[in-house]
Amino acid sequence: MNILLTDIKYLPTVGPKRAELLGKELNILCYKDLLYFFPFRYVDRSKFYAISEIDSANAYVQLRGIIKNITNIGEGRSRRLVASFSDDTGVIELVFFKGIKWISEKLKIGSEYIVFGKPSNFNGNINMVHPEIEEVSLSKPDPNAVMTGVYPSTEKLKNSQITNKVISKLQAIVWDRCKDYIKETLPPYLLESMKLCGLKTALSTIHFPKDMQTLAKARERLKFEELFFLQLSLLKQKNVRTRSSNGVVFRKLGSAFNDTYNNLQFPLTGAQKKVIKEIRADVTSGKQMNRLLEGDVGSGKTLVAILSALQAIDNGYQACIMAPTEVLAEQHYKGVGKFVDTSKVKCALLTGSTKTKERREIYQGLEDGSINLVFGTHALIVDKVKFANLGLAVIDEQHRFGVDQRSKLWSKSAVTPHILVMTATPIPRTLAMTLYGDLDVSVIDELPPGRKLVITKHVSENNHHKVYEFMKKQIDVGRQVFVVYPLIQESEKMDYENLESGYLQITEAFPAPKYVTAVVHGKQTAENKAFDMDLFVKGKANILVATSVIEVGVDVPNASVMVIESAERFGLSQLHQLRGRVGRGSAESYCILMTGYKLSKEARQRIDIMCSTTDGFALAEQDLRMRGPGDFEGTKQSGLAIDLHIADLSKDNPLLLMARETAEKILENDPILSTPDNQILQDGLQEMKTEIKDYSIIS
Ligand code: ADP
Ligand code: MG
Repeated sequence: MNILLTDIKYLPTVGPKRAELLGKELNILCYKDLLYFFPFRYVDRSKFYAISEIDSANAYVQLRGIIKNITNIGEGRSRRLVASFSDDTGVIELVFFKGIKWISEKLKIGSEYIVFGKPSNFNGNINMVHPEIEEVSLSKPDPNAVMTGVYPSTEKLKNSQITNKVISKLQAIVWDRCKDYIKETLPPYLLESMKLCGLKTALSTIHFPKDMQTLAKARERLKFEELFFLQLSLLKQKNVRTRSSNGVVFRKLGSAFNDTYNNLQFPLTGAQKKVIKEIRADVTSGKQMNRLLEGDVGSGKTLVAILSALQAIDNGYQACIMAPTEVLAEQHYKGVGKFVDTSKVKCALLTGSTKTKERREIYQGLEDGSINLVFGTHALIVDKVKFANLGLAVIDEQHRFGVDQRSKLWSKSAVTPHILVMTATPIPRTLAMTLYGDLDVSVIDELPPGRKLVITKHVSENNHHKVYEFMKKQIDVGRQVFVVYPLIQESEKMDYENLESGYLQITEAFPAPKYVTAVVHGKQTAENKAFDMDLFVKGKANILVATSVIEVGVDVPNASVMVIESAERFGLSQLHQLRGRVGRGSAESYCILMTGYKLSKEARQRIDIMCSTTDGFALAEQDLRMRGPGDFEGTKQSGLAIDLHIADLSKDNPLLLMARETAEKILENDPILSTPDNQILQDGLQEMKTEIKDYSIIS
């Protein structure tokens, strides 16, 4: 039995109760989990701060001073013990809500103590809640360990007295038990060529660092290992797939493709041409295509999808284009006639609201091959749908679909179709490499010419009347306006109330019959929704009041104003998507971000970024920097847990690139990791797999 996998409850001083907490709060289930639970920062324990130099912006600090007096304050839940603690420079209050009896017995007025904790601001005064505290005469500092790791924690852990100090002690105990059983995971040739330290050194250093240099080396080693194994596993998977699945070959370009291509009303952008070439190379290669197409809103991805579908059709195969919402699927379907002669290419639309009789006909047409190109929603992946010979599946706004849903498309047809997934949520390269590391990535980084930048303004809520005036001016010159309300599941009821009252307000400010206001939201019947949507798309309504359902895809070139209510409640990428709904025609366009008066720091940052750039990739990079990869749109749905222990996809670009290149090189020479040198890597991958499996059973 591998000692590293011992249940954490057996670690001395842990026991079942603490083990349960460690598992629930930190996902620490076995010795190894604890060993791989790393400090997120370090405090130099040789350094003491002066009380006069700290403020609540400080992270953890260490102080040395004397307890001046101790008082008990308050009743019940607010009962607390307050000790005033001073050094030569000032006084600070140490506050304890828990363990009051024990602490008041321990603290001695007039004695000298070392205090370690995080300063916070309480009613304008700096205090420290539940600091670690130790009498100077009793403390025996370890002369080697100058730096103390600070481990991530949670409210529950703190309340249960599992302090940083406790975790540090547990680390010392677990290290003692495990240190002789740490097995190196990287082959010697890699350690040498990359100048990395060994795993045992790295693990001991990360918990008990002696100096900054060795700590940096340890962190580098552990980050590299983490990124490297992830890349190795993704790339190996990709290798296996391209080897084992033969792709259908779209050898010829026939009349379907050529008629459309030659009759385009506008030249393709350079970026569109480049991507079409990349796709062409894939579909003629004999290998199955798995490509992610990233392109900002309005960059013309749909046309690329259609031109790819036509290649399939010219070679006797069917194609499907799947969208996340009915509105979008319908729009694709209705728009296809702009480019394609639908008397020659038979198209269909299949969504949840397709009527039974028509649905049956479509099922039939897909199964007998008479339908060439089908647009639709999730309705396309229900079991009843069978294709005669699906050659290409396009998935639009990919991040809305789970991996399972995507893979369902594979089993729809006797041949394995090529897969093109598209997203308008620009994903920073580093993240894409990890999230979609097994896909090839194409980027459309150019908008069609003549697009005007959308002017973005931040307006606070008490200036609604000014915004209404502005809307009137735009409507007077024939433009249309979107007004969007947030819809967040947790507060759905309130959100609908907001939308309702907003709608009333607007119909008062813009009275019929002079103005026509349409409204769409999730609570309507499909017919009502379609009716109102249609009013707006056809230009019969001046204003469309909507929830964020219109975020995805809606194309109304005459709409020039996007008003976003409670903009502070939207994420950056959502705001960007919404803004992309305007600026599609020739008119100057505007995005107005309405917010409450008081904004959180993060909300203000988002609004400022929105006002300062319209570049989706720049926004995505900022988003990643602000929120980290965990919250990144698409990360959660991707099905790939980016549960990195130490590497940070928003900061470790160079290391990630190195990990990727190294993995590529190794697999190039040894695609299935069969040489003795690489056996250790194969074992590592295997372990990764079993670990992932185990966790899924637990959670
Ligand atoms: P998205 O990438 O957001 O899906 P769309 O495919 O909806 O963008 O394209 C936005 C608009 O731009 C559509 O009206 C489309 O017909 C138009 N369009 C696409 N390619 C070009 C081009 N090369 N030149 C001009 N307009 C284009
Ligand atoms: Mg689109």
